[in-house]
Amino acid sequence: MHDLVVRGGTLVLPEGPRRADLGVGDGAIAEIAEELPGGREEIDATGLHVLPGGIDAHVHFNEPGRTHWEGWATGTAALAAGGMTACFEMPLNAHPPTIDGPAFDAKLAAAQASACVDFALWGGIVPGNADRLEELHERGVIGLKAFMSASGTDDFPNADDATLHAGMAIAARLGAIVAVHAENDALISRPHAGTSWRDYAASRPPVAETEAIARALAFAEDTGCALHVVHVSTGRGVELVAEARARGVDATCETCPHYLFLREQDMETLGVVAKCAPPLRAPEPLWERLAQIALVASDHSPCPPELKDPDDYFFAWGGIAGAQTTLPLLLTRADPATVARLTAHGPAERFGIARKGALKTGYDADLALVELGTLDELRAEDLRYRHKLSPFLGRRLPRVVRTLLRGAEPAYGKLLRP
Ligand SMILES: [Zn+2]
Repeated sequence: MHDLVVRGGTLVLPEGPRRADLGVGDGAIAEIAEELPGGREEIDATGLHVLPGGIDAHVHFNEPGRTHWEGWATGTAALAAGGMTACFEMPLNAHPPTIDGPAFDAKLAAAQASACVDFALWGGIVPGNADRLEELHERGVIGLKAFMSASGTDDFPNADDATLHAGMAIAARLGAIVAVHAENDALISRPHAGTSWRDYAASRPPVAETEAIARALAFAEDTGCALHVVHVSTGRGVELVAEARARGVDATCETCPHYLFLREQDMETLGVVAKCAPPLRAPEPLWERLAQIALVASDHSPCPPELKDPDDYFFAWGGIAGAQTTLPLLLTRADPATVARLTAHGPAERFGIARKGALKTGYDADLALVELGTLDELRAEDLRYRHKLSPFLGRRLPRVVRTLLRGAEPAYGKLLRP
């Protein structure tokens, strides 16, 4: 007898959606069949879609060190409320930044104390830490992240070309994936006029992104390093990565819900809550290239509301809070199989997370039960993260009825290693 039977739902399987029962034993998917006998526990999923729990490959939870910005407890509670069962947390915005072994240990302790979904930790490549990358890799980082332009936090300086190239050569030897924030630092650091969203957008033009992506791809090709370009905002950026992949470079990219669901002009109506880097652009070129995008991640990057200066688009903290809304937003426009690819299969496969990211026998029973036909208006009080900011308030989103981590309510997250 299975510990749990999820009965009568439409399972979003790797081969496509199918109505079936799903049996859980010891936290794993034990059996998928048209009709299973009764389990010790049952969930009636009639009328619901059952997706693999999402893996958010890009979040900033700020703990330790800046827990008043966010924290593992609140950040992962928001993920779980939005159907996500795992996340990869970025090496900056917490303090100390994850650029050596002891900093990794400090963050791991904070995550183990409070995370309610599974997690992996990114390490960082910064000037001067080339000799610490191996110890980060040995501790099990999911990959190594570098900024090609100023990161916004002083304790995580950007990698100049020499630092990035050397870091990628080391990563290639270690077999680690390098992720880059790709914007040309010189171009976006030019003196700018004004303080409006239009001035801000003009200061970070698409060519700043596409040039940096092309340079990172050249470094990846030269060093043999696996490259993942985070939060690509332009169709041309996606195309560059796809072209490199076609000629044999091990390169992938992600985009974020805000680049898919918001456009440049939304900065005017939404204000600084919609500030991010690269800035919002036109979504349609990304939708047209969705098949070339490996995954969609939130880039949840919150801050205390007082840092969102409404009068100065440059000075305001740049980062969109979105840990809770990735899956529901995507389901408003993409079919469930595509959403499962972008939020679960994609990240698990790219980063080599075993037995995660798909509804398959033997995999962890990480499930998101969603009622596609019931749309709820997103309200600030529904948000589980620390500061109730979102550019998506007021949107009508499908209801995430329940999230299960290893067959149970999300309560204790484990460290995931590639
Ligand atoms: Zn980020």
